[in-house]
Amino acid sequence: MTDLENSREKQTDNKHREESEDPVSPPECHRRSCTDPAAFVALERYQEETGHGAVEAEAFLCQEHAAVESPANLDSSYADYVFRVEPL
Ligand SMILES: [Zn+2]
Repeated sequence: MTDLENSREKQTDNKHREESEDPVSPPECHRRSCTDPAAFVALERYQEETGHGAVEAEAFLCQEHAAVESPANLDSSYADYVFRVEPL
């Protein structure tokens, strides 16, 4: 049974290693031709035109572009409409 225990340990090791090595690269700015790392996420929740329900659109933005981000779907706003910019 020593072999079985060894292999089980190895599997656990591998799993742990994969998780810890999982690369968490910071997202880049969503704006075209901007490669700055994103510092904010802009979230807009609006009612889809087709009436299928609320849609949430998220965009990662650098500080410069987050400052000029503005609501894009005000014509589809409704009671629970949301537009907000949050730091990452
Ligand atoms: Zn940017």
